[in-house]
Amino acid sequence: MQSIKEYVEKKKRDLKEKIDSLAQPPTLVIVQVGDVEASNRYVKNKLKDCSKVGINARLLHFESTITTEELVHEIGLLNKDDAVTGFIVQLPLPKQINISKISNAIAAIKDVDGFSKLALVNPCTPAGIIDYLTDYGFEFKNKNVVVIGRSEIVGRPIARMLLDLDSNVEVIHSKTSAFNKERALLLADLIIVATGHRNTLVNSDVMNTAQKCFIIDVGINMNEDGKLCGDCEKVTERPKTPVPGGVGLLTRLALTKNLLKLFELQQKK
Ligand code: NAD
Repeated sequence: MQSIKEYVEKKKRDLKEKIDSLAQPPTLVIVQVGDVEASNRYVKNKLKDCSKVGINARLLHFESTITTEELVHEIGLLNKDDAVTGFIVQLPLPKQINISKISNAIAAIKDVDGFSKLALVNPCTPAGIIDYLTDYGFEFKNKNVVVIGRSEIVGRPIARMLLDLDSNVEVIHSKTSAFNKERALLLADLIIVATGHRNTLVNSDVMNTAQKCFIIDVGINMNEDGKLCGDCEKVTERPKTPVPGGVGLLTRLALTKNLLKLFELQQKK
Protein backbone atom coordinates (compact mmCIF):
# COMPACT_ATOMS: atom_id res chain seq x y z
CA MET A 1 0.00 0.00 0.00
CA GLN A 2 1.18 3.49 -0.90
CA SER A 3 2.15 5.71 2.05
CA ILE A 4 0.04 8.79 2.74
CA LYS A 5 3.04 10.88 1.71
CA GLU A 6 3.19 9.16 -1.70
CA TYR A 7 -0.58 9.37 -2.08
CA VAL A 8 -0.54 13.13 -1.36
CA GLU A 9 2.39 13.75 -3.72
CA LYS A 10 0.53 12.00 -6.55
CA LYS A 11 -2.64 13.98 -5.83
CA LYS A 12 -0.63 17.22 -5.85
CA ARG A 13 0.83 16.37 -9.26
CA ASP A 14 -2.72 15.79 -10.60
CA LEU A 15 -3.87 19.06 -9.06
CA LYS A 16 -0.97 20.97 -10.58
CA GLU A 17 -1.82 19.64 -14.02
CA LYS A 18 -5.39 20.82 -13.57
CA ILE A 19 -4.39 24.27 -12.28
CA ASP A 20 -1.78 24.73 -15.01
CA SER A 21 -4.53 24.20 -17.59
CA LEU A 22 -6.58 27.13 -16.22
CA ALA A 23 -6.41 30.54 -17.88
CA GLN A 24 -5.31 31.99 -14.54
CA PRO A 25 -4.47 30.30 -11.22
CA PRO A 26 -6.68 30.67 -8.12
CA THR A 27 -5.42 32.98 -5.37
CA LEU A 28 -5.30 32.14 -1.67
CA VAL A 29 -4.69 34.66 1.11
CA ILE A 30 -3.61 33.39 4.52
CA VAL A 31 -4.51 35.81 7.30
CA GLN A 32 -2.25 35.45 10.30
CA VAL A 33 -2.41 37.40 13.54
CA GLY A 34 0.56 37.60 15.89
CA ASP A 35 3.52 35.31 15.98
CA VAL A 36 2.82 31.82 17.33
CA GLU A 37 5.60 29.40 16.41
CA ALA A 38 3.30 26.47 15.53
CA SER A 39 1.20 28.80 13.32
CA ASN A 40 4.30 30.04 11.53
CA ARG A 41 5.13 26.45 10.65
CA TYR A 42 1.59 25.69 9.42
CA VAL A 43 1.52 28.89 7.35
CA LYS A 44 4.91 28.13 5.81
CA ASN A 45 3.75 24.62 4.85
CA LYS A 46 0.50 25.89 3.35
CA LEU A 47 2.38 28.48 1.25
CA LYS A 48 4.77 25.73 0.11
CA ASP A 49 1.86 23.43 -0.86
CA CYS A 50 0.24 26.22 -2.86
CA SER A 51 3.39 27.02 -4.76
CA LYS A 52 3.84 23.31 -5.52
CA VAL A 53 0.41 22.98 -7.15
CA GLY A 54 0.55 26.36 -8.90
CA ILE A 55 -1.80 28.32 -6.61
CA ASN A 56 -1.02 31.99 -6.13
CA ALA A 57 -0.71 32.40 -2.36
CA ARG A 58 0.26 35.22 -0.04
CA LEU A 59 0.37 35.97 3.63
CA LEU A 60 -1.49 38.92 5.15
CA HIS A 61 -0.05 39.46 8.60
CA PHE A 62 -1.45 41.57 11.47
CA GLU A 63 -0.05 42.50 14.86
CA SER A 64 -1.39 40.54 17.85
CA THR A 65 -3.02 43.76 19.18
CA ILE A 66 -5.60 43.90 16.35
CA THR A 67 -9.23 44.06 17.56
CA THR A 68 -12.15 41.88 16.42
CA GLU A 69 -13.71 44.91 14.67
CA GLU A 70 -10.49 45.72 12.79
CA LEU A 71 -10.08 42.11 11.71
CA VAL A 72 -13.73 41.91 10.60
CA HIS A 73 -13.08 45.05 8.51
CA GLU A 74 -10.04 43.44 6.85
CA ILE A 75 -12.10 40.31 6.14
CA GLY A 76 -14.75 42.51 4.52
CA LEU A 77 -12.09 43.87 2.13
CA LEU A 78 -10.99 40.32 1.21
CA ASN A 79 -14.63 39.31 0.66
CA LYS A 80 -14.96 42.13 -1.90
CA ASP A 81 -11.60 41.64 -3.62
CA ASP A 82 -12.23 39.86 -6.94
CA ALA A 83 -8.54 39.01 -7.25
CA VAL A 84 -8.81 36.78 -4.15
CA THR A 85 -10.39 33.36 -4.73
CA GLY A 86 -10.47 32.48 -1.06
CA PHE A 87 -8.80 33.02 2.28
CA ILE A 88 -8.25 31.42 5.64
CA VAL A 89 -7.73 32.93 9.05
CA GLN A 90 -5.00 30.90 10.69
CA LEU A 91 -5.77 29.73 14.24
CA PRO A 92 -5.07 30.25 17.08
CA LEU A 93 -6.12 33.89 17.32
CA PRO A 94 -5.22 36.12 20.29
CA LYS A 95 -7.60 35.95 23.26
CA GLN A 96 -9.25 39.33 22.59
CA ILE A 97 -10.56 38.15 19.20
CA ASN A 98 -14.10 36.74 19.02
CA ILE A 99 -13.60 33.70 16.78
CA SER A 100 -17.25 33.16 15.91
CA LYS A 101 -17.57 36.81 14.74
CA ILE A 102 -14.54 36.21 12.53
CA SER A 103 -15.85 32.93 11.06
CA ASN A 104 -19.23 34.47 10.37
CA ALA A 105 -17.66 37.49 8.66
CA ILE A 106 -16.08 35.29 5.97
CA ALA A 107 -18.24 35.12 2.81
CA ALA A 108 -19.21 31.49 2.11
CA ILE A 109 -17.87 31.71 -1.46
CA LYS A 110 -14.41 32.61 -0.06
CA ASP A 111 -14.39 30.30 2.98
CA VAL A 112 -11.66 27.78 2.11
CA ASP A 113 -11.54 26.29 5.63
CA GLY A 114 -15.27 25.59 5.56
CA PHE A 115 -15.76 26.74 9.16
CA SER A 116 -18.62 29.23 8.68
CA LYS A 117 -22.28 28.20 8.99
CA LEU A 118 -23.03 28.66 5.27
CA ALA A 119 -19.73 27.23 3.99
CA LEU A 120 -19.80 25.67 0.51
CA VAL A 121 -16.92 23.28 1.21
CA ASN A 122 -16.32 20.82 4.05
CA PRO A 123 -13.70 21.56 6.72
CA CYS A 124 -10.27 20.43 5.52
CA THR A 125 -9.43 17.68 8.04
CA PRO A 126 -12.68 15.68 7.64
CA ALA A 127 -12.66 16.32 3.87
CA GLY A 128 -9.06 15.10 3.55
CA ILE A 129 -9.81 11.93 5.52
CA ILE A 130 -12.98 11.09 3.58
CA ASP A 131 -11.27 11.70 0.21
CA TYR A 132 -8.38 9.45 1.21
CA LEU A 133 -10.65 6.61 2.37
CA THR A 134 -12.77 6.98 -0.77
CA ASP A 135 -9.69 6.79 -3.02
CA TYR A 136 -8.63 3.62 -1.21
CA GLY A 137 -11.98 2.01 -1.92
CA PHE A 138 -13.37 2.07 1.64
CA GLU A 139 -17.07 1.25 1.32
CA PHE A 140 -18.84 3.56 3.75
CA LYS A 141 -22.32 2.14 3.37
CA ASN A 142 -23.48 0.23 6.48
CA LYS A 143 -19.94 0.29 7.98
CA ASN A 144 -19.70 0.85 11.74
CA VAL A 145 -17.64 3.95 12.34
CA VAL A 146 -16.69 5.21 15.78
CA VAL A 147 -15.64 8.85 15.99
CA ILE A 148 -13.79 9.74 19.20
CA GLY A 149 -14.06 13.49 19.88
CA ARG A 150 -16.88 15.91 19.12
CA SER A 151 -15.14 19.17 18.18
CA GLU A 152 -16.57 21.60 15.64
CA ILE A 153 -13.61 21.17 13.30
CA VAL A 154 -13.16 17.38 13.29
CA GLY A 155 -15.54 15.13 15.27
CA ARG A 156 -18.88 16.71 14.44
CA PRO A 157 -18.32 17.49 10.74
CA ILE A 158 -16.81 14.07 10.00
CA ALA A 159 -19.70 12.32 11.78
CA ARG A 160 -22.15 14.25 9.58
CA MET A 161 -20.20 13.47 6.41
CA LEU A 162 -20.07 9.77 7.30
CA LEU A 163 -23.83 9.71 7.89
CA ASP A 164 -24.30 11.26 4.45
CA LEU A 165 -22.25 8.34 3.11
CA ASP A 166 -24.61 5.86 4.83
CA SER A 167 -22.20 4.69 7.56
CA ASN A 168 -23.50 3.76 11.01
CA VAL A 169 -21.84 6.40 13.14
CA GLU A 170 -21.30 6.54 16.88
CA VAL A 171 -19.59 9.57 18.41
CA ILE A 172 -17.95 9.13 21.78
CA HIS A 173 -16.31 11.85 23.87
CA SER A 174 -14.78 12.79 27.20
CA LYS A 175 -18.01 12.07 29.10
CA THR A 176 -18.56 8.61 27.55
CA SER A 177 -18.21 5.82 30.15
CA ALA A 178 -15.59 3.08 29.77
CA PHE A 179 -18.45 0.59 29.34
CA ASN A 180 -20.01 2.53 26.46
CA LYS A 181 -16.62 3.13 24.84
CA GLU A 182 -15.92 -0.61 24.91
CA ARG A 183 -19.39 -1.39 23.56
CA ALA A 184 -19.06 1.10 20.69
CA LEU A 185 -15.61 -0.13 19.70
CA LEU A 186 -16.58 -3.80 19.69
CA LEU A 187 -18.14 -3.76 16.21
CA ALA A 188 -16.08 -0.94 14.68
CA ASP A 189 -14.89 -1.22 11.08
CA LEU A 190 -13.28 2.23 11.24
CA ILE A 191 -12.22 4.37 14.20
CA ILE A 192 -11.45 8.06 13.86
CA VAL A 193 -9.67 9.49 16.88
CA ALA A 194 -9.46 13.27 17.38
CA THR A 195 -9.06 14.16 21.04
CA GLY A 196 -5.61 15.71 21.40
CA HIS A 197 -4.86 13.26 24.23
CA ARG A 198 -2.14 10.64 23.96
CA ASN A 199 -3.25 7.05 24.42
CA THR A 200 -6.94 7.77 23.92
CA LEU A 201 -6.84 4.39 22.26
CA VAL A 202 -4.52 1.54 23.29
CA ASN A 203 -4.17 -2.06 22.11
CA SER A 204 -6.60 -3.44 24.68
CA ASP A 205 -9.33 -1.09 23.31
CA VAL A 206 -9.09 -2.57 19.81
CA MET A 207 -8.28 -6.23 20.47
CA ASN A 208 -11.91 -7.30 20.00
CA THR A 209 -12.49 -5.39 16.77
CA ALA A 210 -12.22 -7.05 13.35
CA GLN A 211 -8.59 -7.61 12.27
CA LYS A 212 -8.94 -5.11 9.43
CA CYS A 213 -10.55 -2.40 11.52
CA PHE A 214 -8.70 0.75 10.42
CA ILE A 215 -7.74 3.65 12.67
CA ILE A 216 -7.41 7.24 11.56
CA ASP A 217 -5.26 9.05 14.12
CA VAL A 218 -5.95 12.78 13.90
CA GLY A 219 -4.29 13.87 17.14
CA ILE A 220 -1.11 15.86 17.39
CA ASN A 221 0.70 15.58 20.71
CA MET A 222 4.24 15.56 22.02
CA ASN A 223 5.56 12.38 23.63
CA GLU A 224 8.06 12.15 26.50
CA ASP A 225 10.95 12.19 23.99
CA GLY A 226 9.73 15.53 22.65
CA LYS A 227 8.55 13.90 19.40
CA LEU A 228 5.21 14.40 17.67
CA CYS A 229 2.73 11.60 18.25
CA GLY A 230 -0.97 10.97 17.74
CA ASP A 231 -3.82 9.94 20.03
CA CYS A 232 -3.11 6.22 19.47
CA GLU A 233 0.68 6.15 19.59
CA LYS A 234 0.93 2.76 21.24
CA VAL A 235 -1.64 0.91 19.12
CA THR A 236 0.18 -1.74 17.12
CA GLU A 237 -2.51 -4.39 16.73
CA ARG A 238 -4.54 -2.68 14.02
CA PRO A 239 -3.57 -0.66 10.91
CA LYS A 240 -3.53 3.10 11.52
CA THR A 241 -2.42 6.35 9.93
CA PRO A 242 0.96 7.67 11.12
CA VAL A 243 1.68 10.87 13.05
CA PRO A 244 3.48 12.81 11.65
CA GLY A 245 3.00 12.08 7.94
CA GLY A 246 -0.71 11.20 8.11
CA VAL A 247 -3.83 13.30 8.58
CA GLY A 248 -1.79 16.55 8.59
CA LEU A 249 -0.81 15.94 4.96
CA LEU A 250 -4.40 15.01 4.01
CA THR A 251 -5.65 18.23 5.63
CA ARG A 252 -3.17 20.35 3.68
CA LEU A 253 -4.15 18.61 0.44
CA ALA A 254 -7.84 19.26 1.15
CA LEU A 255 -7.13 22.98 1.57
CA THR A 256 -5.80 23.25 -1.99
CA LYS A 257 -8.73 21.18 -3.29
CA ASN A 258 -11.24 23.37 -1.45
CA LEU A 259 -9.71 26.49 -3.03
CA LEU A 260 -10.03 24.96 -6.48
CA LYS A 261 -13.68 24.06 -5.76
CA LEU A 262 -14.45 27.67 -4.80
CA PHE A 263 -12.60 28.90 -7.89
CA GLU A 264 -14.76 26.67 -10.10
CA LEU A 265 -17.94 27.86 -8.36
CA GLN A 266 -16.91 31.48 -8.89
CA GLN A 267 -16.29 30.83 -12.62
CA LYS A 268 -19.87 29.56 -12.97
CA LYS A 269 -21.39 32.75 -11.54
P1 NAD B 1 -10.77 19.70 20.71
O1 NAD B 1 -9.97 19.89 21.94
O2 NAD B 1 -11.57 20.83 20.16
O3 NAD B 1 -11.78 18.49 20.93
C1 NAD B 1 -11.36 17.30 21.53
C2 NAD B 1 -12.55 16.38 21.69
O4 NAD B 1 -12.09 15.16 22.23
C3 NAD B 1 -13.63 16.90 22.62
O5 NAD B 1 -14.87 16.75 21.98
C4 NAD B 1 -13.58 15.98 23.86
O6 NAD B 1 -14.88 15.67 24.35
C5 NAD B 1 -12.94 14.74 23.28
N1 NAD B 1 -12.11 14.01 24.24
C6 NAD B 1 -11.11 14.50 25.01
N2 NAD B 1 -10.54 13.51 25.71
C7 NAD B 1 -11.19 12.38 25.40
C8 NAD B 1 -11.05 11.02 25.78
N3 NAD B 1 -10.12 10.62 26.65
N4 NAD B 1 -11.89 10.11 25.25
C9 NAD B 1 -12.84 10.48 24.37
N5 NAD B 1 -12.99 11.75 23.94
C10 NAD B 1 -12.19 12.69 24.45
O7 NAD B 1 -9.76 19.12 19.62
P2 NAD B 1 -9.76 19.11 18.00
O8 NAD B 1 -9.62 20.48 17.49
O9 NAD B 1 -10.84 18.23 17.48
O10 NAD B 1 -8.37 18.36 17.78
C11 NAD B 1 -8.14 17.08 18.28
C12 NAD B 1 -6.70 16.69 17.98
O11 NAD B 1 -6.53 16.61 16.59
C13 NAD B 1 -5.65 17.70 18.48
O12 NAD B 1 -4.49 17.00 18.86
C14 NAD B 1 -5.37 18.52 17.25
O13 NAD B 1 -4.08 19.10 17.27
C15 NAD B 1 -5.48 17.47 16.18
N6 NAD B 1 -5.82 17.98 14.86
C16 NAD B 1 -5.01 17.62 13.85
C17 NAD B 1 -5.28 18.06 12.57
C18 NAD B 1 -4.37 17.66 11.45
O14 NAD B 1 -4.45 18.24 10.39
N7 NAD B 1 -3.54 16.65 11.64
C19 NAD B 1 -6.38 18.88 12.32
C20 NAD B 1 -7.22 19.21 13.38
C21 NAD B 1 -6.93 18.74 14.66
